[in-house]
Amino acid sequence: METRLFGTHQLSQISQLERLSEEQRFAIRVVATVLPFRVNHYVIDQLIDWDKIPQDPMFQLCFPQAEMLSTTHFNRIADLLRQQASTEQIKHAAQEIHKELNPHPANQQTLNVPRLDEVPITGMQHKYRETVLYFPSQGQFCFSYCTFCFRWPQFVGEKELRIAATDPEVLFAYLRRHPEVTDLLITGGDPLVMSARRLEKIVMPLLKEEFSQLRNIRIGSKALSYWPYRFLTDHDSDDLLRLFECVTKAGKHMALMVHFNHWREMQPEPVRTAISRIQGTGAVLRTQSPLLRHINAASDIWQRMWQEQVQLGLIPYYMFIVRDTGPRSYFEVPLVEAWNIYRRAVRKVSGLARTVRGPSMSAGPGKVEIQGVVELTGEKALVLRFIQGRNPNWVQKPFFARYDEAATWLDQLKPAFGEERFFYEEE
Ligand SMILES: *Cc1c(COP(=O)(O)O)cnc(C)c1O
Ligand code: SF4
Repeated sequence: METRLFGTHQLSQISQLERLSEEQRFAIRVVATVLPFRVNHYVIDQLIDWDKIPQDPMFQLCFPQAEMLSTTHFNRIADLLRQQASTEQIKHAAQEIHKELNPHPANQQTLNVPRLDEVPITGMQHKYRETVLYFPSQGQFCFSYCTFCFRWPQFVGEKELRIAATDPEVLFAYLRRHPEVTDLLITGGDPLVMSARRLEKIVMPLLKEEFSQLRNIRIGSKALSYWPYRFLTDHDSDDLLRLFECVTKAGKHMALMVHFNHWREMQPEPVRTAISRIQGTGAVLRTQSPLLRHINAASDIWQRMWQEQVQLGLIPYYMFIVRDTGPRSYFEVPLVEAWNIYRRAVRKVSGLARTVRGPSMSAGPGKVEIQGVVELTGEKALVLRFIQGRNPNWVQKPFFARYDEAATWLDQLKPAFGEERFFYEEE
């Protein structure tokens, strides 16, 4: 089956949108001029419940909404569109807005960039000792785009905002010099938009004896959700599955880091068939998602999602806090509320689903989990810990922040109990 794609310029071809008012349709166009927008016909036909738009969570997941931009930004683009300004003018305005949306949270573009013979390598990140992230350049788009996407700068077409690697030889050379790396995480975008042949060129050499240090190969993907046919009827679906099997047969752990935001994405029959086919290769599926206002900010949604994942043989892995980039203000949930949603959901599932960690912030110093709320010597505080740290010694050490019901990110928290700084800020 061929994927039919619709981008900003094809909005008028999506007949289902005629259910919305003229104003609502115009708002979608305005936001889709600034933030990435792309849907395919699978999402349109099988995921979205058009009787429930605009509140339908799958619609919110894929279609831009007016409030995703600030009023100032929105009006600036809306005026230009109404005046039928030139493409150049509109593009320029959009680019200016991009710079104001914190395109590189946690200093991704300057920190964590690995070096080979002092030369910085583009398209790789090495933040945590044991794991290298690899961004193959052909994998820097997705089957559809999530409206909350934290990797949105990869998709807005500006070269300087993008991270991408063209040559896997550089990755191999880096791994030869870094025997401490046990995990490779191939990420994007969605690396599974690449052909099986291109993926083989990255993965197959890693199965050789010289890379025996590498135990685990992960691929981050939302293909199960947006294009399950990637594992069923694409011309190279069988080759892709064979590649997973080669990895497991070579004695390595092959993990698909699956991105599901709502149990609705796991309902269609093709998804279930695709899951069994992947499991047949010996690959393990682990799931992750941010907590998103308008999409999944309720404990019963997570409870059902995790329960059904476990039933299908998927392992719940991470619940993330929405990163401080892009349309964050539309989706964000305060940390205290996030913790409440997490614990209410976790309490209702069996131990098999309690493998999920979170809610976790991927911040500059590391992945910080909100563990709970305590009251000690009359002061209420948030208990935090590093799940991953820029410095491995920080991991698992509990630390405390002043209780704050409004805070939505680490940089808004203050140390509790009279401390001047958090312990990791001393370094
Ligand atoms: C999350 C993450 C990893 C993987 O961490 P695990 O705890 O092993 O899943 C690696 N690198 C970066 C930059 C990350 O954000
Ligand atoms: S699948 Fe991931 S990278 Fe792709 S649009 Fe969604 S959040 Fe962004």
